[in-house]
Amino acid sequence: MFNTVLIANRGEIALRILRACRALGLRTVAVHSEADADLRHVQLADQALCIGPAPAAKSYLQKSELLIAAQLTGADAIHPGYGFLSENADFAEAVERAGLTLIGPTSSSIRLMGDKVSAKRAMRDAGVPCVPGSDGPLPQDADATARMADEVGYPLIVKAAGGGGGRGMRVVRDRSDLIAAASMTREEAAAAFGNATVYIERFLERPRHVEIQVLADTHGNAVWLGERDCSMQRRHQKVIEESPAPGIDRGEISRIGQLCAEACVRIGYRGAGTFEFLYENGAFYFIEMNTRVQVEHPVTEMVTGVDIVAEQIRIAMGAPLSVNQADIEFNGHAIECRITAEHPWKFTPSPGKVGTWIAPGGPGIRVESHLYSGYAVPPNYDSLVAKLIAHGKTREQAIARMRAALDEMVVDGIESSIPLHRRLMLEPRFIEGGFDIHHLERLIESNALQDEVKA
Ligand code: ADP
Repeated sequence: MFNTVLIANRGEIALRILRACRALGLRTVAVHSEADADLRHVQLADQALCIGPAPAAKSYLQKSELLIAAQLTGADAIHPGYGFLSENADFAEAVERAGLTLIGPTSSSIRLMGDKVSAKRAMRDAGVPCVPGSDGPLPQDADATARMADEVGYPLIVKAAGGGGGRGMRVVRDRSDLIAAASMTREEAAAAFGNATVYIERFLERPRHVEIQVLADTHGNAVWLGERDCSMQRRHQKVIEESPAPGIDRGEISRIGQLCAEACVRIGYRGAGTFEFLYENGAFYFIEMNTRVQVEHPVTEMVTGVDIVAEQIRIAMGAPLSVNQADIEFNGHAIECRITAEHPWKFTPSPGKVGTWIAPGGPGIRVESHLYSGYAVPPNYDSLVAKLIAHGKTREQAIARMRAALDEMVVDGIESSIPLHRRLMLEPRFIEGGFDIHHLERLIESNALQDEVKA
């Protein structure tokens, strides 16, 4: 058990965590950088502490500062949110050693899943379908590498075992490029992730990104909460997410979901997690597991009615899951638009002071945002400033509600991606559903989208 939660994050997710803690009657501690004293959750927390200057490396990523902050404020649990230290096994281990509770999986689960080679191996052993590829790290020897690649087949993708954030990957279409690609990826991986291990996978040309949300407790129970289609992406960053995934056989999704829940039990996983898959020609291929709450968790919450953040906290307290698989119903359709402080089609960052902020409302509309009129978006962090979620009985109704909400939403003083989302909600291929992960980039390249957003 614990009484006080230190929120080791910022922005909308810090506010989301604070709200969950308050609803559970827990005390909250906000830690923030010098640039973030004005954040909404900092004002609302029972206690707030500045932990360093604006750059994340000097504040939100300072493991020892966070532990000291917990000690000073009497916090006995830490919620890491997403990003920052949320998937850092060394941090999780330091929290465990300090006798505090991390609201998340154990450091050993984070370590297992943080290495994509060991993660894939664990999932293959659990019967979860994976992208065909090298069953382990790529060898140093050029001939052995070439033989392995021939077995996998071209085109293939060289990936860093320690990679993340869409970095540390290289597509190889021609046999003659393999060795150079492998050594370049290795060098980059060593520099960026401190781990030179690389592996190869078959490169899927036009996949969709479909992921499964799971929750597992410390009593051997695990459930899956449906899927999310996150195929609307730019530079591997998700832009729109929805649940359910249009046009995919429900029986196949249940089968995969069940395998994911069973895999959690098998590896002793606890907390919330996401199994990410590429989906192509009717088949699912596991690519990685995220061992934290995801930005897009609200779409699952809207469809299932399960409060994922509250469940994370309850699981960390040692409580059994409040739902079992048979209780989970999937109602209607939910869509999330990520609103960023960026130019709507040039995607250049647009930090600065927000003049007017008016959040939309109405049936099925949910807004997750730390914005308020007069708040200044600092230039130092991720550009996500709001998530707009629309739920409806059908996908059509969710889209209609989203359109109305986007029209109602006002954020002035900064540029935002609202005009892009307004445009995407009218785009024929989006309306049809089931597009692949390159769809948005193709749209951006074709000037039509940019012209219409401009107009
Ligand atoms: P990261 O941890 O950096 O997000 P992932 O393994 O999740 O890395 O891959 C990120 C993205 O790269 C995927 O969403 C997909 O767009 C692309 N990708 C990864 N593996 C493959 C593959 N085998 N075939 C095609 N695209 C891939």
